Amino acid sequence: MGALEIRQIRCRSDNYAVLLHDPESGETMVVDTPDAKAINAELEKEGWKLTHIINTHHHHDHVDGNEALKAEYGATIYGPAHDRDRIPGLDVALKDGDGLSLGRHRFDVIAVPGHTMGSLAYYICDEKIVFTGDTLFSLGCGRMFEGDAETMWHSLDLLRHLPDDTTIYCGHEYTLNNAEFALTIEPGNEALQKRAEEVRRLMRERKPACPTTVALEKATNPFLRPESPEIRENLGMMGVENYRIFAELRQRKDAFG
Ligand SMILES: [Zn+2]
Repeated sequence: MGALEIRQIRCRSDNYAVLLHDPESGETMVVDTPDAKAINAELEKEGWKLTHIINTHHHHDHVDGNEALKAEYGATIYGPAHDRDRIPGLDVALKDGDGLSLGRHRFDVIAVPGHTMGSLAYYICDEKIVFTGDTLFSLGCGRMFEGDAETMWHSLDLLRHLPDDTTIYCGHEYTLNNAEFALTIEPGNEALQKRAEEVRRLMRERKPACPTTVALEKATNPFLRPESPEIRENLGMMGVENYRIFAELRQRKDAFG
């Protein structure tokens, strides 16, 4: 099976859309549609015809381009069944455990409630790539708009158990701000210090800090590290369940901005 061709597109101020093209079948997918014009420009540049649109969740900055792109290409729109009334142009409603295909590449649908209750992650089994939307960011995670801390923590825990060499594509480029917060939580983490340095350099060079990997996030992202003795000591929360550590971190990040 030939590898997918991938283009990450920066949209709006800090959103990402990702194009996936399967040369074997000629099919092309976009993951989230923050900006139809920016996505269209990339499709035209590559000479690709959009066949699939998948949405990670219902927020407008992830679905705004659905109808324009569907009108232009006749693409099929896949998204969370939970939010079937809030996903413009939805054709195929998906839930946890469902699958879909791009050519011969198989995608697993993983429910990751918390940021929104319908949030879905998409995992491409043969390529070890996951799209986490606004659930997991590099060095951070999404705000809990609809779920509680226990629910959101369970979703993050699922994602951190994907294979270490899984590539993670996120919905936003928040990495620099996330790094600054992470350093206040676990300043002694050398892997984090190194990653923060790299992120500062990437931002200076106007390059993306995403995609990332499961291994890198497990080593550096405080939201995936509730077991860290340094984090627990800094929070003064030894001997509590992981989701309580997560809840405290999320609250502190909300205040941090
Ligand atoms: Zn969102």
